[in-house]
Amino acid sequence: MAEQVVQLRCGVKNDPWGKKGRSSVAGQLWSKTPGNGTVQDSEPYSEMWMGTYPTVPSRVLSTGQLLSEYLQENPELVGKAVIDKYGPEIPFLPKVLSFAKALPLQIHPDKALAEQLHKENAQEFGDANHKPEIAVALSNFELFAGFKPLHEIEAIMKLKPLEQLVPVNEPFDDDTLREISKTLLTLPPIVVSEIINSLRDLPEAQFGRHRYIPGMLDRLSKQYTEFDNGNLVAVLLMNYMTLGPGEAVSVPADSMHAYLCGDIVECMARSDNVLNTGFCPRAQRDSVELFTRALSFNPHGVDAALLLRKRSSRGVNGKSDEYAPPFSEFNVLATILGAGEHETHKDIAGPSLLFVTKGCGRMEVAEGKSVKSYDLQEGYVYFVGQGVRLDLSTDKGIAIYRPFAE
Ligand SMILES: [Zn+2]
Repeated sequence: MAEQVVQLRCGVKNDPWGKKGRSSVAGQLWSKTPGNGTVQDSEPYSEMWMGTYPTVPSRVLSTGQLLSEYLQENPELVGKAVIDKYGPEIPFLPKVLSFAKALPLQIHPDKALAEQLHKENAQEFGDANHKPEIAVALSNFELFAGFKPLHEIEAIMKLKPLEQLVPVNEPFDDDTLREISKTLLTLPPIVVSEIINSLRDLPEAQFGRHRYIPGMLDRLSKQYTEFDNGNLVAVLLMNYMTLGPGEAVSVPADSMHAYLCGDIVECMARSDNVLNTGFCPRAQRDSVELFTRALSFNPHGVDAALLLRKRSSRGVNGKSDEYAPPFSEFNVLATILGAGEHETHKDIAGPSLLFVTKGCGRMEVAEGKSVKSYDLQEGYVYFVGQGVRLDLSTDKGIAIYRPFAE
């Protein structure tokens, strides 16, 4: 019978916005798996990908076989419920991201639009699937997600340099916001820079509770020039959030987001479709028409973006939390153990990926009358087949994340 638990070797990406060398958690974790090599101080390490997505696929460490092939050969490891819905696959894609500068301002098309875009341009939109995602902070995490409440945007847009951009004689609603988004995204570069400069000169008090606006415009302009339309959209219209370790956001399909700084665990439905519109070179920007067509304006405000963790009944000793986003592809278990603690994960009726972000310990699986033991070290990633009960323990403390589907 095929091994139910296998250690994986995962790939890493080197996008220019990634943290460099050893300061990158993604790079550090990636380098810990035997055979992956060491991190180079001059190189950025942006994302470690886990799972079967073909762009950066994981392999079985002991044999070098692609995990996707291993699951094709051993579909019983995936379990019936997931096979019926998605095939012998892992229907989610977890990543560890480390970034020191803003990622492109982006949305991920919903299912209907993804299907259409994939039909029209399979080259650029490789998936007919939606890509809702969640992000769990490993360090302090700054981001923009979703839109500010309408009345706050309305107040900001009354400031001198901006009032000319608001359509007149209309109630200020989501349609007004769509118009304003389109206007801000299509302003010529020189106008963008003029507006940014006059906003930077206004006294902070004029921005009410959004006193960060002038400073943030300054900071983003240094990263992506003062000519980037994304600066205005993110800072004026979107929620600016700062999260601490363990806190999380859930980004529904079609909802605008831009991650600014931090180290995070990200998990998404299995898709790589993205529409970019700011914080990236002009040539990489997808048409504003398409972007604003796909854009969703609901919900508004910070609370709607936060994803609260709940104590999970899947952890027998009550030491596991669960992030359960409001869509069906996956949930994420988080088990943080102190020195000498242990936890048991009840069996899960679908595939999961388990990885260690900090510390070390052991994982034990009962097989008939014997017990198989696996080493848990920082950066180690395992595939765990369906129906396996796991005993987790540590002498010094450990942080384990385990996205799963069932
Ligand atoms: Zn995204």
